Amino acid sequence: MVHPKILEVIEHDVCTACGACASACPAGAIVINKRAEVRDPDNLELYEKGATLNVCEGCFTCGRVCPVIDGYYDDEFANVKSFFGAKSTIVGQDGGVTSHILKELLRKGEIDCVVGISRNNLWETELILMTKPEDVDKTTGTKYTYDSVLEALKEPFEKYDRIAVVGVPCQAHGARLISENVNDKIVLIVGLLCMESFYHETMREKIVPEIMKLNVDDVVKMDFGKGKFWNYTKDGQEHSVKIAEVAPYARNPCHHCCDYTSVFADISVGSVGTPDGWNCVFIRTDAGQKYFDKVKDTLEIMENPAPPGLDLVKKLAKMKHDNNSGHYLEVCEKFSFDECGIR
Ligand SMILES: Cc1cc2nc3c(=O)[nH]c(=O)nc-3n(C[C@H](O)[C@H](O)[C@H](O)COP(=O)(O)OP(=O)(O)OC[C@H]3O[C@@H](n4cnc5c(N)ncnc54)[C@H](O)[C@@H]3O)c2cc1C
Ligand code: SF4
Ligand code: SF4
Ligand code: SF4
Repeated sequence: MVHPKILEVIEHDVCTACGACASACPAGAIVINKRAEVRDPDNLELYEKGATLNVCEGCFTCGRVCPVIDGYYDDEFANVKSFFGAKSTIVGQDGGVTSHILKELLRKGEIDCVVGISRNNLWETELILMTKPEDVDKTTGTKYTYDSVLEALKEPFEKYDRIAVVGVPCQAHGARLISENVNDKIVLIVGLLCMESFYHETMREKIVPEIMKLNVDDVVKMDFGKGKFWNYTKDGQEHSVKIAEVAPYARNPCHHCCDYTSVFADISVGSVGTPDGWNCVFIRTDAGQKYFDKVKDTLEIMENPAPPGLDLVKKLAKMKHDNNSGHYLEVCEKFSFDECGIR
């Protein structure tokens, strides 16, 4: 049996499937379903695969790296050192800044590797270990489905000393807890902004065919913005529905999540608050500043994105907290331990 605290996280269906526990476990006792779509609280197969009394060493590490147990900050912006817009020459989801940072750092030999997510034309995803600048090209673009990025750190932890992580807020949080508690090989955490994500089956079998009324292999880009969920198709057409039509299908843990801007990242990157084709960027730590300084000369920078700029990011962060904090605190009440909560 794995650590009882993470079993409670799973039982209450608030496990984000970030994979932190799996990569931190010294016994290899936790295995996560690749597509992380299992959500039935009565079905613990997802976590118990490989986790048996024989292999679990009872070290309690997994409970120390779980973002759900660690909880959330009320003020997401307290650790922000600077906020600005940026844009690269890479064609990415928005301004391509995420890919640009990773590519430049790999090119300059400042980091050894980073894990990213690629997809095929059916929007089936794959976790990729990037060690060369050209590997980054395979991972550009947002996939609004979820994969356990941190579980894929097991191999890099064995082979490399300077590891970068890119992921949504729960993954940035798990990565921070790993680096503080277990393994100091993570040198840079690039966190994306994130309102919600979806199970693969939900996206491919419900949202795209039934709500968007499209064939998934015709879709070349997905995006959330201006109150709508957008699908861009091969024939150059744009299709959209109101976000309210798809948001209820988000994964259950996302309805309990109170981090919009990746508080635990060194550098946070999103799109909101900046013009189309640009990224909003938050520098949050000295490490974030150090690594951003190594690449900033090759980026276009917008020092003060025009209003609503940062105010819009803050408004959406507040909306996420208002929607989800009650759900999260209700679950905290049910846990048998009291570390969790909003501080
Ligand atoms: C689920 C999800 C929800 C998001 N919601 C918002 C939002 O509400 N507001 C906002 O401003 N921004 C949001 N973003 C961030 C936004 O979509 C872009 O990722 C961000 O602006 C960076 O753009 P870019 O051009 O620099 O990315 P690119 O240079 O194209 O790089 C994309 C990077 O994202 C990684 N990636 C792609 N999909 C995933 C995934 N599912 N999980 C983890 N890593 C992934 C890739 O590996 C790659 O490294 C969301 C991202 C995700 C994954
Ligand atoms: S208690 Fe230790 S050995 Fe057991 S599952 Fe958790 S991290 Fe692995
Ligand atoms: S660490 Fe991540 S994968 Fe493990 S139980 Fe917590 S949320 Fe789930
Ligand atoms: S909403 Fe929260 S739990 Fe869901 S994918 Fe985004 S950061 Fe993770």
